[in-house]
Amino acid sequence: MSPTKEKIWLSSPHMGHRELEYVKEAFATNWIAPLGPNVNGFEAELQEYNNIGHAAALSSGTAALHLALIILDTQPGDYVLCQSFTFCGSANAIHYTGAQPVFIDSEPHSWNLDPNALEEAIQTIRNDSEKFPGTIRAIMPVHLYGMPAAMDDILAISKKYGIPVVEDAAESLGATYKGIKTGTLGDLGAYSFNGNKIITTSGGGALVSNNSNWIEKARFLATQARDPAPHYQHTEIGYNYRLSNVLAGIGRGQLEVLDERIQQRKRVFETYTNWFLNWGLEWQAQTENEKTMSNRWLSAFDLGRSTWSPDHIRHALEKEQIECRPLWKPMHLQPVFADCMYFGGNVAERLFENGLCFPSGSNLTGEDMGRIERAIKQSINESS
Ligand SMILES: *Cc1c(COP(=O)(O)O)cnc(C)c1O
Repeated sequence: MSPTKEKIWLSSPHMGHRELEYVKEAFATNWIAPLGPNVNGFEAELQEYNNIGHAAALSSGTAALHLALIILDTQPGDYVLCQSFTFCGSANAIHYTGAQPVFIDSEPHSWNLDPNALEEAIQTIRNDSEKFPGTIRAIMPVHLYGMPAAMDDILAISKKYGIPVVEDAAESLGATYKGIKTGTLGDLGAYSFNGNKIITTSGGGALVSNNSNWIEKARFLATQARDPAPHYQHTEIGYNYRLSNVLAGIGRGQLEVLDERIQQRKRVFETYTNWFLNWGLEWQAQTENEKTMSNRWLSAFDLGRSTWSPDHIRHALEKEQIECRPLWKPMHLQPVFADCMYFGGNVAERLFENGLCFPSGSNLTGEDMGRIERAIKQSINESS
């Protein structure tokens, strides 16, 4: 390893052309506040991009999920059915409300919420109201790594049992399911603009819905639930969850290049799949008659059927200053959620054991990809 080699990150921020203009505008007009023209503009542009009625710009994706659950009246002792194979933000938001997360396994195509295990969980809880006295307030599918979940089946179950869907679309901005943007298929959807996501405001999020009352309520709760009065009057507990007008300016510039970023990430992903074609690696895919488009936020692979060891490759690439990461550790295996219920088999667990994310940024150069290819080939030769 040469010490002069620059680190290749898993997923780093990639600015477009006009972010600074919007930020400068915020400075020039002194809108250095959690409201202002950039926040309004960003919300309108998010609505238009996603073809959804209403959007509230917030301080994080986790805040968006938290508010979604409050809007659905989630109370201590209630249940929220959540994909186990996810980042902790999904489950933490449930815990904030006092409700219990009930974790559900993934199906092997999309690696997302398994509709069969979901229905089993609903029936188990509903069939024994003595043992499970709480109400099921929401179903929370996650479009992991940008791949849409099996939404037709999930929405059919939502309808059959009358349970709303909160989509965790933190990783899937711009991805589509049958032509519809993820985050807008369910009752409420949450996006994240954290530093490593496909576009970023350094930190930020949004809640979207076609229900204007809900998004109005989200804005109200996100600004400390201030009642309309000249003095500070409160009849509800609120939160400080609004997005800064400065950061919303970054978001406006980023949104202008989002489609370009998706194409760039897809090209990175396709480069890997071409290399890996004959090695038995597997990746997320749509099921047969679903037309989905993943934004390929992260290039994630299942090495379970290959002869490669994920740990060996990760360490070998790290020595070459190339960042790789295991797949998300399922929530039902996390010590902090050890007491929570779990439904399903071992799909998520096996993905965690056998999976690996490779550098996926939209700003990777041809030279970077060459370095990654050489490092992977070298690590395979060492281990065989
Ligand atoms: C990033 C992420 C979140 C949380 O978003 P923040 O903006 O970091 O709070 C939630 N769920 C998933 C699946 C994520 O990847």
